[in-house]
Amino acid sequence: MARIELKSNEQIDWMREAGLVVADIHRELRAATQPGVTLLELDAISSDTIRRNHAKSNFLGYGGFPATLCASVNDVVVHGIPDDTPLEEGDLVSFDCGAYVQHQGRQWHADAAFSMIVGGDDKGSDRARRLNAITEESLWAAIASLANSKRISCVGEAVEAVTEKYREGDWVAGIVEEYTGHGIGTAMHQPPEILNYPTRGLQPKLRTGMVIAIEPMLTDGGIETDVLDDDWTVVTRDGSLAAHWEHTVAITDNGIWVLTAPDGGKAGLAPYGITPAP
Ligand code: MG
Ligand code: MG
Repeated sequence: MARIELKSNEQIDWMREAGLVVADIHRELRAATQPGVTLLELDAISSDTIRRNHAKSNFLGYGGFPATLCASVNDVVVHGIPDDTPLEEGDLVSFDCGAYVQHQGRQWHADAAFSMIVGGDDKGSDRARRLNAITEESLWAAIASLANSKRISCVGEAVEAVTEKYREGDWVAGIVEEYTGHGIGTAMHQPPEILNYPTRGLQPKLRTGMVIAIEPMLTDGGIETDVLDDDWTVVTRDGSLAAHWEHTVAITDNGIWVLTAPDGGKAGLAPYGITPAP
Protein backbone atom coordinates (compact mmCIF):
# COMPACT_ATOMS: atom_id res chain seq x y z
CA MET A 1 0.00 0.00 0.00
CA ALA A 2 1.38 3.40 -0.94
CA ARG A 3 2.61 5.60 1.86
CA ILE A 4 0.10 7.96 3.43
CA GLU A 5 1.48 11.45 4.08
CA LEU A 6 0.96 12.45 7.71
CA LYS A 7 0.87 16.18 8.45
CA SER A 8 2.13 18.15 11.43
CA ASN A 9 -0.22 20.58 13.18
CA GLU A 10 1.51 23.45 11.40
CA GLN A 11 1.01 21.79 8.02
CA ILE A 12 -2.66 21.23 8.81
CA ASP A 13 -2.92 24.96 9.57
CA TRP A 14 -1.50 25.66 6.10
CA MET A 15 -4.09 23.34 4.57
CA ARG A 16 -6.76 25.23 6.52
CA GLU A 17 -5.56 28.38 4.78
CA ALA A 18 -6.15 26.67 1.42
CA GLY A 19 -9.45 25.29 2.72
CA LEU A 20 -10.75 28.75 3.56
CA VAL A 21 -9.92 29.91 0.02
CA VAL A 22 -12.02 27.05 -1.34
CA ALA A 23 -14.83 27.95 1.09
CA ASP A 24 -14.65 31.52 -0.23
CA ILE A 25 -14.97 30.27 -3.84
CA HIS A 26 -18.03 28.24 -2.83
CA ARG A 27 -19.62 31.29 -1.19
CA GLU A 28 -19.05 33.37 -4.35
CA LEU A 29 -20.42 30.60 -6.60
CA ARG A 30 -23.57 30.24 -4.50
CA ALA A 31 -24.18 33.97 -4.69
CA ALA A 32 -23.62 34.18 -8.46
CA THR A 33 -25.45 31.04 -9.58
CA GLN A 34 -28.82 31.90 -11.12
CA PRO A 35 -30.72 31.23 -14.34
CA GLY A 36 -28.90 32.72 -17.35
CA VAL A 37 -25.41 32.78 -15.91
CA THR A 38 -22.88 30.71 -17.87
CA LEU A 39 -20.43 28.21 -16.45
CA LEU A 40 -17.56 30.19 -17.98
CA GLU A 41 -18.70 33.28 -16.05
CA LEU A 42 -18.70 31.20 -12.87
CA ASP A 43 -15.22 29.89 -13.67
CA ALA A 44 -14.04 33.51 -13.95
CA ILE A 45 -15.48 34.19 -10.48
CA SER A 46 -13.65 31.16 -9.12
CA SER A 47 -10.41 32.26 -10.75
CA ASP A 48 -10.75 35.84 -9.42
CA THR A 49 -11.48 34.56 -5.91
CA ILE A 50 -8.36 32.40 -5.92
CA ARG A 51 -6.24 35.33 -7.11
CA ARG A 52 -7.74 37.73 -4.54
CA ASN A 53 -6.76 35.26 -1.82
CA HIS A 54 -3.16 35.03 -3.14
CA ALA A 55 -3.62 31.31 -3.74
CA LYS A 56 -3.26 29.15 -6.87
CA SER A 57 -5.67 26.85 -8.68
CA ASN A 58 -4.90 23.14 -8.51
CA PHE A 59 -7.57 22.35 -11.11
CA LEU A 60 -6.33 24.60 -13.94
CA GLY A 61 -3.88 22.57 -16.02
CA TYR A 62 -4.36 19.38 -13.99
CA GLY A 63 -3.98 16.66 -16.63
CA GLY A 64 -4.70 19.47 -19.09
CA PHE A 65 -8.00 20.52 -17.45
CA PRO A 66 -8.84 23.97 -18.89
CA ALA A 67 -10.60 25.67 -15.94
CA THR A 68 -10.38 26.41 -12.21
CA LEU A 69 -13.57 24.51 -11.44
CA CYS A 70 -15.54 21.51 -12.60
CA ALA A 71 -19.18 22.39 -13.25
CA SER A 72 -21.41 19.35 -13.69
CA VAL A 73 -25.04 19.91 -14.69
CA ASN A 74 -27.90 17.40 -14.25
CA ASP A 75 -26.74 14.02 -15.66
CA VAL A 76 -23.07 15.06 -15.47
CA VAL A 77 -21.57 13.36 -12.41
CA VAL A 78 -18.16 15.05 -12.19
CA HIS A 79 -15.44 16.76 -14.26
CA GLY A 80 -17.78 18.93 -16.36
CA ILE A 81 -15.84 21.59 -18.28
CA PRO A 82 -17.25 25.13 -17.93
CA ASP A 83 -18.63 26.42 -21.25
CA ASP A 84 -20.91 29.21 -22.45
CA THR A 85 -24.15 27.30 -21.87
CA PRO A 86 -26.41 29.37 -19.59
CA LEU A 87 -27.79 27.62 -16.51
CA GLU A 88 -31.55 27.11 -16.44
CA GLU A 89 -33.93 27.36 -13.51
CA GLY A 90 -34.23 23.95 -11.84
CA ASP A 91 -30.87 22.60 -13.07
CA LEU A 92 -29.02 20.48 -10.53
CA VAL A 93 -25.44 21.76 -10.77
CA SER A 94 -22.35 20.54 -8.91
CA PHE A 95 -19.30 22.73 -8.45
CA ASP A 96 -15.99 21.11 -7.56
CA CYS A 97 -12.94 23.30 -7.08
CA GLY A 98 -9.71 23.59 -5.19
CA ALA A 99 -6.76 25.80 -4.37
CA TYR A 100 -3.30 25.56 -2.89
CA VAL A 101 -1.05 27.85 -0.89
CA GLN A 102 2.72 27.61 -0.63
CA HIS A 103 4.82 27.32 2.51
CA GLN A 104 8.45 26.33 2.84
CA GLY A 105 8.67 25.60 -0.87
CA ARG A 106 5.81 23.12 -0.97
CA GLN A 107 2.18 23.23 -2.03
CA TRP A 108 -0.64 22.68 0.47
CA HIS A 109 -3.90 21.73 -1.20
CA ALA A 110 -7.63 21.80 -0.46
CA ASP A 111 -10.50 20.39 -2.52
CA ALA A 112 -14.28 20.61 -2.00
CA ALA A 113 -17.54 20.34 -3.92
CA PHE A 114 -21.22 21.11 -3.46
CA SER A 115 -24.39 20.80 -5.50
CA MET A 116 -27.35 23.17 -5.70
CA ILE A 117 -30.56 23.76 -7.61
CA VAL A 118 -30.43 26.79 -9.88
CA GLY A 119 -33.00 29.39 -8.82
CA GLY A 120 -33.46 27.91 -5.34
CA ASP A 121 -34.60 24.63 -3.81
CA ASP A 122 -38.26 25.37 -4.56
CA LYS A 123 -37.47 25.46 -8.31
CA GLY A 124 -36.05 21.97 -8.71
CA SER A 125 -37.93 18.74 -9.30
CA ASP A 126 -38.73 16.59 -6.27
CA ARG A 127 -36.18 14.08 -7.52
CA ALA A 128 -33.41 16.67 -7.82
CA ARG A 129 -34.16 18.05 -4.36
CA ARG A 130 -34.24 14.60 -2.81
CA LEU A 131 -30.98 13.51 -4.46
CA ASN A 132 -29.14 16.67 -3.47
CA ALA A 133 -30.30 16.42 0.15
CA ILE A 134 -29.34 12.74 0.42
CA THR A 135 -25.90 13.36 -1.09
CA GLU A 136 -25.19 16.23 1.30
CA GLU A 137 -26.34 14.15 4.25
CA SER A 138 -24.17 11.23 3.14
CA LEU A 139 -21.14 13.52 3.11
CA TRP A 140 -21.73 14.71 6.69
CA ALA A 141 -22.54 11.22 7.93
CA ALA A 142 -19.27 10.00 6.40
CA ILE A 143 -17.27 12.86 7.93
CA ALA A 144 -18.90 12.28 11.33
CA SER A 145 -18.07 8.56 11.15
CA LEU A 146 -14.36 9.43 11.06
CA ALA A 147 -14.58 10.74 14.61
CA ASN A 148 -15.44 7.34 16.09
CA SER A 149 -13.90 4.81 13.74
CA LYS A 150 -10.59 3.01 13.42
CA ARG A 151 -10.47 2.54 9.66
CA ILE A 152 -11.35 4.48 6.50
CA SER A 153 -13.93 1.86 5.60
CA CYS A 154 -16.32 3.84 7.84
CA VAL A 155 -16.81 6.27 4.93
CA GLY A 156 -18.33 3.75 2.53
CA GLU A 157 -20.43 2.25 5.31
CA ALA A 158 -21.80 5.67 6.29
CA VAL A 159 -22.61 6.69 2.70
CA GLU A 160 -24.45 3.43 2.08
CA ALA A 161 -26.36 3.71 5.37
CA VAL A 162 -27.70 7.12 4.32
CA THR A 163 -28.81 5.88 0.90
CA GLU A 164 -30.56 2.94 2.60
CA LYS A 165 -32.26 5.27 5.07
CA TYR A 166 -34.00 6.99 2.13
CA ARG A 167 -34.85 3.84 0.15
CA GLU A 168 -38.41 4.16 -1.18
CA GLY A 169 -40.00 1.03 -2.62
CA ASP A 170 -37.63 -0.14 -5.35
CA TRP A 171 -35.86 3.22 -5.55
CA VAL A 172 -32.56 3.89 -3.85
CA ALA A 173 -29.90 6.49 -4.67
CA GLY A 174 -27.03 4.93 -6.66
CA ILE A 175 -23.49 5.21 -5.29
CA VAL A 176 -21.01 5.82 -8.11
CA GLU A 177 -18.07 3.43 -7.66
CA GLU A 178 -15.69 4.46 -10.44
CA TYR A 179 -14.60 7.67 -8.70
CA THR A 180 -13.46 7.96 -5.10
CA GLY A 181 -12.24 10.24 -2.36
CA HIS A 182 -8.51 10.54 -1.71
CA GLY A 183 -5.72 11.65 0.52
CA ILE A 184 -4.64 15.26 0.03
CA GLY A 185 -1.70 17.38 1.17
CA THR A 186 1.38 18.43 -0.81
CA ALA A 187 -0.54 17.23 -3.87
CA MET A 188 -4.27 17.29 -4.57
CA HIS A 189 -4.56 13.53 -5.06
CA GLN A 190 -2.63 11.20 -2.77
CA PRO A 191 -3.12 7.76 -1.25
CA PRO A 192 -5.31 6.37 0.10
CA GLU A 193 -8.25 5.94 -2.24
CA ILE A 194 -11.47 6.35 -0.25
CA LEU A 195 -14.37 4.26 -1.47
CA ASN A 196 -17.94 5.49 -1.06
CA TYR A 197 -19.34 1.97 -0.68
CA PRO A 198 -18.53 -0.88 1.70
CA THR A 199 -15.99 -3.52 0.68
CA ARG A 200 -14.57 -6.59 2.35
CA GLY A 201 -10.96 -5.50 1.82
CA LEU A 202 -9.09 -4.14 4.83
CA GLN A 203 -8.69 -0.38 4.48
CA PRO A 204 -6.09 1.92 6.09
CA LYS A 205 -6.30 2.87 9.75
CA LEU A 206 -7.24 6.42 10.60
CA ARG A 207 -4.25 8.20 12.11
CA THR A 208 -3.54 11.63 13.51
CA GLY A 209 -2.13 13.82 10.73
CA MET A 210 -4.06 12.22 7.89
CA VAL A 211 -5.95 14.65 5.67
CA ILE A 212 -8.53 13.20 3.31
CA ALA A 213 -11.04 14.42 0.76
CA ILE A 214 -14.40 12.74 1.32
CA GLU A 215 -16.62 12.99 -1.76
CA PRO A 216 -19.75 10.91 -2.29
CA MET A 217 -21.22 11.01 -5.81
CA LEU A 218 -24.82 9.76 -5.93
CA THR A 219 -27.28 9.26 -8.76
CA ASP A 220 -31.03 9.17 -9.03
CA GLY A 221 -30.75 5.92 -11.01
CA GLY A 222 -28.01 3.50 -12.10
CA ILE A 223 -24.37 3.70 -11.08
CA GLU A 224 -22.82 3.14 -14.53
CA THR A 225 -21.02 6.13 -16.02
CA ASP A 226 -19.44 7.12 -19.34
CA VAL A 227 -16.77 9.66 -20.22
CA LEU A 228 -17.66 11.97 -23.13
CA ASP A 229 -15.41 12.59 -26.15
CA ASP A 230 -13.78 15.56 -24.40
CA ASP A 231 -12.08 12.94 -22.19
CA TRP A 232 -13.30 14.69 -19.03
CA THR A 233 -17.06 14.93 -18.68
CA VAL A 234 -18.44 11.97 -16.72
CA VAL A 235 -22.17 11.33 -17.30
CA THR A 236 -24.59 8.75 -15.97
CA ARG A 237 -25.14 6.06 -18.59
CA ASP A 238 -28.90 6.03 -18.01
CA GLY A 239 -29.21 9.83 -18.08
CA SER A 240 -30.27 10.04 -14.45
CA LEU A 241 -29.41 13.05 -12.30
CA ALA A 242 -26.22 13.08 -10.23
CA ALA A 243 -25.06 15.09 -7.22
CA HIS A 244 -21.61 15.48 -5.64
CA TRP A 245 -20.52 16.88 -2.28
CA GLU A 246 -16.98 17.00 -0.91
CA HIS A 247 -14.92 18.34 1.97
CA THR A 248 -11.24 18.15 2.92
CA VAL A 249 -11.02 16.77 6.46
CA ALA A 250 -8.05 16.54 8.86
CA ILE A 251 -7.68 13.88 11.55
CA THR A 252 -6.20 15.83 14.47
CA ASP A 253 -4.96 14.90 17.95
CA ASN A 254 -8.38 15.67 19.36
CA GLY A 255 -10.77 14.58 16.63
CA ILE A 256 -11.63 15.87 13.17
CA TRP A 257 -11.52 19.30 11.54
CA VAL A 258 -13.30 20.10 8.26
CA LEU A 259 -10.75 22.35 6.58
CA THR A 260 -13.00 23.50 3.72
CA ALA A 261 -16.00 24.45 5.89
CA PRO A 262 -15.84 28.06 7.16
CA ASP A 263 -16.97 26.89 10.63
CA GLY A 264 -14.66 23.87 10.59
CA GLY A 265 -17.69 21.58 10.32
CA LYS A 266 -19.52 22.79 13.43
CA ALA A 267 -22.99 23.03 11.89
CA GLY A 268 -22.69 19.93 9.71
CA LEU A 269 -21.43 17.73 12.55
CA ALA A 270 -23.80 19.04 15.24
CA PRO A 271 -26.60 16.55 14.38
CA TYR A 272 -24.11 13.75 15.10
CA GLY A 273 -23.09 15.18 18.49
CA ILE A 274 -19.57 15.91 17.22
CA THR A 275 -17.64 19.13 17.72
CA PRO A 276 -14.76 19.93 15.34
CA ALA A 277 -11.38 19.68 17.07
CA PRO A 278 -8.70 21.82 15.36
MG1 MG B 1 -12.98 17.94 -5.69
MG1 MG C 1 -11.43 15.40 -4.59
